[in-house]
Amino acid sequence: MKVHEYQAKEILRDRGVCVPRGEACFSVDEAVAAAAQLGGKCWVVKAQIHAGGRGKGGGVRVVDSLDEVRSAAQDMLGMKLVTHQTGVDGQRVNRLLVEEGVDIARELYAGLVIDRSCQRVVLMVSAEGGTEIEEVASRTPEKIHKVIIDPEQGLSDEDAGMLTLELDLQQDQAAEAVTFFKALYQTFWETDASLAEINPLVVTTDGAVLALDAKFNFDDNALFRHPEIVALHDKDEEDPDELDASAAGLSYISLEGNIGCLVNGAGLAMATMDIIKLYGGEPANFLDVGGGATTEQVTDAFKIMLKNPGLEAILVNIFGGIMRCDVVAQGLVQAAALVELQIPLVVRLEGTNVEKGREILKNSGLDMVNATTMADAAEKVVQATRA
Ligand code: GDP
Ligand code: MN
Repeated sequence: MKVHEYQAKEILRDRGVCVPRGEACFSVDEAVAAAAQLGGKCWVVKAQIHAGGRGKGGGVRVVDSLDEVRSAAQDMLGMKLVTHQTGVDGQRVNRLLVEEGVDIARELYAGLVIDRSCQRVVLMVSAEGGTEIEEVASRTPEKIHKVIIDPEQGLSDEDAGMLTLELDLQQDQAAEAVTFFKALYQTFWETDASLAEINPLVVTTDGAVLALDAKFNFDDNALFRHPEIVALHDKDEEDPDELDASAAGLSYISLEGNIGCLVNGAGLAMATMDIIKLYGGEPANFLDVGGGATTEQVTDAFKIMLKNPGLEAILVNIFGGIMRCDVVAQGLVQAAALVELQIPLVVRLEGTNVEKGREILKNSGLDMVNATTMADAAEKVVQATRA
């Protein structure tokens, strides 16, 4: 689960990680009032969307009067902010963060990720902050410095200190940075985060070390331990079809293609998408109806897929393991009738009671193409879109 920058910063502030003072705002008047309340002579108005690269897209503005706070807020609220992470349609801005402006001496980078190959949390830092870290990593990987953190021990003073040397931080800032890294890691660990990115981590002209930007993702499988984080979820940032699917107990991800896939089991769903591509087709979605899908779930699955105007055919690929093929077939027939399916349907059933299942499909009068193997199914569904 992702959260907004301002939410991540509140979590960090509560745990002793230095961030600029600021306030979340939902209207232009709130933004101006927040700036007046913060005081000072310089403010930053920041669009809150779950995507990075806002600065380049006009979603971060440094201003030095309340009038400019007002016009920045007017420009940003309601705009469709396009960044390299949003896709071409952009993401609508509904919330702003108004912060005190900070005088930047250096822009650094700090990130915490889970490295699956060593099964540990890794702290990465770079002196090349403020830019896209992916660029730095691919062009000049030697400019990224890492430590692998022992979960028993946590981030040690030695390791944190070593990174401050790599960043060329002097005495006072080095000490502040060690405190910062340790508190950042502690926050990551205690909140079951899966990613934390501070870009830029800045040294101010006064010598303070603070998080100017903050991106946090949390492990969905651990959210049951963190109701306070679940409460931060902003549904406006999610794909509406994916939200409907999750409410129906389905795992659904929208993709760009024209072939809908309805599959039981995440692994089989992945394999189904792969084989569609192998035969020259493009999947319109990933959809796992789970091990024990009901007729209602299959109906919901059809409805969600059919909302996509670009859908040209559907491939149902079900392996009856725990679920019996005859039950699946009955569900399919009912669901297809309920949604009055207008596009070609290819069905591949395999597993327990497959003969009975095929019989049910055959006798249903449902207009569909039967397939035997996965290759057969993929070939037939790709064919159907070209007819
Ligand atoms: P992102 O583009 O979505 O990653 O948004 P950031 O929060 O990282 O902001 C982008 C850039 O705006 C930063 O790298 C800074 O250069 C600049 N910026 C943000 N806040 C301030 C501030 O308080 N003072 C100054 N001078 N620049 C800022
Ligand atoms: Mn940033």
